Order: sequence, then C-alpha cells, then structure tokens
Amino acid sequence: MISSFTPPQRILMGPGPSDVPQRILDAMARPTIGHLDPAFAELMEQTKTLLRYAFQTENALTFPVSAPGSAGMEMCFVNLVEPGDTVIVCRNGVFGGRMLENVKRCGGVPVVVDDAWGAAVDPAKVRAAFEANPQARMLAFVHAETSTGAQSDAAALAAIAREFGALTIMDCVTSLGGTPVRVDEWGIDAAYSGSQKCLSCTPGLSPVTFSERAVERVRARRMPVQSWFLDLSLVLGYWQSGGHRTYHHTAPVNPMYALHEALVMLREEGLENAWARHRAMHLRLKAELEALGLSFVVAEQDRLPQLNAVHVPAGVDEAAIRARLLTEFDLEIGAGLGDMAGKIWRIGLMGHSAREENVLHCADALRQCLG
Ligand code: PLP
Repeated sequence: MISSFTPPQRILMGPGPSDVPQRILDAMARPTIGHLDPAFAELMEQTKTLLRYAFQTENALTFPVSAPGSAGMEMCFVNLVEPGDTVIVCRNGVFGGRMLENVKRCGGVPVVVDDAWGAAVDPAKVRAAFEANPQARMLAFVHAETSTGAQSDAAALAAIAREFGALTIMDCVTSLGGTPVRVDEWGIDAAYSGSQKCLSCTPGLSPVTFSERAVERVRARRMPVQSWFLDLSLVLGYWQSGGHRTYHHTAPVNPMYALHEALVMLREEGLENAWARHRAMHLRLKAELEALGLSFVVAEQDRLPQLNAVHVPAGVDEAAIRARLLTEFDLEIGAGLGDMAGKIWRIGLMGHSAREENVLHCADALRQCLG
C-alpha cells in the first residue's frame, strides 16, 4: 500500500532550492480559490508590485511565469529572438550554454563569447564581439552563474549592448534577492529569475520583467512566437492590470500565495539588508571553509556570496561525502556540473538558508567528514 509522503527535514545548502521558511509553507496551505476570482486578481497585482521592488524596476510588464526558471528563460528568448537575428551570447558556465541553446532553437544566429568556467564574463570580449558584429540585436548573459559561483558585471555588459543599439537579456535566477539586481539602473531589457533560490520560496515559478523597449520589439515581430504557452501577447490577457482578465492557463494558485509571502518577507527585511545578510554569511562560511583547507574556485572579486564553489581536496570521494552529509547530517550541498563534475562542491547560502546556524552546521559536518 502506498501511503502519504512525508519528506525528511533537510537543511538545503546546495545550488537551490533553498530552505523555505514555515511562514511561506503556511501561506501555501491556505484555501485554494479560482484563478479568475477577484480576490486572486488582487494578489496578482500585489505580486507584480512586490516583484518590481525585488527587480528594482518600474517595468509595467513584470510578473511570475507559471513554471520554473527555465520557462522564464524560454519566455525571454522565444519572444525577443526572431529567425536570423544575431545574438551575442556569453558562456562562462552551464547556464550560459543553455542561453546559447535557446538562441539556436529560435533560429537566431549566435555569436558566442566564451570565458573560463569560474571567471566572470569579460566586458572587453563582449565589446569586441559587438565591433565585429554590429548587426547584433541582442546580448544575453548570466548575472550569477550557479554552476561556478561567478558573478558578472551586469551594469558594464548592459551598457555595451546599449551603445551598440542592442537589447539585453539577463539571467538573474541565482542573484535576485541575494546580491544587487538593478534592472532599471543597469538598463536591462529582459530578466528572468526563479522562486527557489534567494527568494526562498518553493520551486516552480519564474519572475520575469520586460522593459518598454523589449515590449516594442515583441510588438514589431515579423512572425508569431512559436510557443503558444510562452507567447507574451497571449499571457498578458491574463496578467494585465485592470480591465478584463481572460483565461489563458490555470495559474498555480497556492504556489502564488507562497511567492507573494516570500516577497512580503523580502520587503519587510529590505533588499539592502538581505544583500548584507548574504554577504555576512558568506564571509562566515569562507572563514570556516578556509580553516578546513578548502580553496575557492572563483577569484575573490567575482565571487557570489550565495554560491560558494570550492575544490574537492585530492583523494577525496566527493560523492561519498555528499551522501554522508545527507544521511548523517540532513545536509544537502551541491556537486559540480558539466566540466566541474567530481571536482568541486557548491555550497549555497541562498535566502533563508543564509543563516549563522546553517553556516556552523555545515562547517561542523564537513569537519567531521573530512577529518
Ligand atoms: N539559470 C540559472 C543561473 C540557474 O541556476 C537555474 C537553476 O538552477 C536555471 C536557470 C533554471 O531554473 P529552474 O531549475 O528553476 O528551471
């Protein structure tokens, strides 16, 4: 007989999802209402306002896609890239590679700017790519590369794109709520994130925001968007403010309660305080990890506080240690992805996971496993 599922209580210090506060889980357990109920419409409006705060933008077109971060990514690409468009894509880890895949699938012509895994995107290479391809209509880059823990200079990259008259798509799945993301100040035209990282919400929703320039680009499309579900012009019938909301898809009502609560909590803490907390916890963890003899993958100036990638010491079976952390200490940390599989650990300090008790628990557990 299969009975109800009771998950173990874990401490989530991997690359996401992060620990979800009880307050958010409680919000999700509230009664389900219809996705066209006027009360739900009120929650949608508040969620848009709260997301504008998180993204630091005035963009009217700011809302959560009813699907994980990968769907937010696809929404940006399928709406903004048309067949034949040249797109400069920065690749310094796994998620830049996914952007490249999106460009190809949209029929775009990618120009790839490669940087080493663990390094930030080099603005000089991006400038050179624009100089060699002045017809480029778009720049795509990952602000916070979760596969390595490297942060790129989004402001500098977006400024170069503007200079060459191109739009910018930014992946801020891992940065939103953890380190500064300033969509308007930086001049970003489209950005996507995820609910499960520094917002500490349950997985499965993808906040997105589009500038007026991006909306104009979508309106001027020569061909319809090839994805029905992700076509902005159709989704907007449901997410637009005021007026008549029409059925597009059945919104994930209860997860939306959770996201709303997570954003209310972010507002209560204040963005600056949240950024400072992530940084302070990173410095605590860094001291503990270095005391254990572990070294960081990313150079200090490019390090993300919320994703600490460290080299696995020589001769250590990294998978066995992660398995022990999980079974004996209820602690999840992340393995390396792609080229870094087997070589690094990724220790997340995202959202509610960025707490002193987690730092100390992780350091103590690693000490026992490595000792
Ligand atoms: N982009 C980055 C930088 C990520 O870290 C992730 C997930 O880890 C994604 C995109 C995809 O998000 P999701 O797994 O929610 O689809």
